[in-house]
Amino acid sequence: MAYKFIDNYREQGARKKLVAQLRDERKIDDKRVMEAIGRVPRHYFFDETFWKQSYKDIAFPIGEGQTISQPYTVAYQTQLLNIKEGDKVLEIGTGSGYQTCILLELGAVVYTIERQEKLYRRAKLFLGKMGYHPQFFVGDGSRGIPGFAPYDKILVTAGAPFVPEVMLKQLKVGGILVIPVGDEQSQKMVTVFRVSETDYERIELDTFRFVPLVGDQAW
Ligand code: SAM
Repeated sequence: MAYKFIDNYREQGARKKLVAQLRDERKIDDKRVMEAIGRVPRHYFFDETFWKQSYKDIAFPIGEGQTISQPYTVAYQTQLLNIKEGDKVLEIGTGSGYQTCILLELGAVVYTIERQEKLYRRAKLFLGKMGYHPQFFVGDGSRGIPGFAPYDKILVTAGAPFVPEVMLKQLKVGGILVIPVGDEQSQKMVTVFRVSETDYERIELDTFRFVPLVGDQAW
């Protein structure tokens, strides 16, 4: 793959257009999320041949049968997390690392885990070159990462059959979990708020289609 870190007027213009589209057509209204999307060069995650695709509102293959999420999905999930500067965030499903960059741009301290070794290595190398430094892990994130818990926010970027109990336990009181839950065809975006040591509030939102979360507490 031929990657070049060039971000000039053409790419910046395309990115501005994407941000406007997410705001005006997709009704994403969180200004900070929009600004973060406006700052991260999404075309860096694409082979040069496919640069034209990189600012379309579409998911795109990244190898290993996985995808870089659609910008709308990234914006939607990030908005639900309501990231505050310094939040400790667990991201399950690093994929390309694009979403990771958005979380970092919002000032989060990010722990990100990917089960596919090739993608983990690529994201680690790649984000390092871009100047982003989350904590990277490789393995089954369906169990969370208990060693670094609790987290202010947990984001799952693959479709789960249910909300894993272990993830709920790794959430701080006052924390938020965002996870797509459903069957292999479609999932509802589920947001869980931990309101006390023992109580959680769950809301179900729009329907999406994610690649499956595969693991011990998953498919
Ligand atoms: N948000 C990412 C991006 O912007 O590139 C895309 C994530 S992709 C839709 C979902 C990722 O979750 C895939 O890379 C997949 O390998 C990973 N995944 C699936 N099950 C997992 C698990 N149990 N633990 C960690 N990662 C997992």
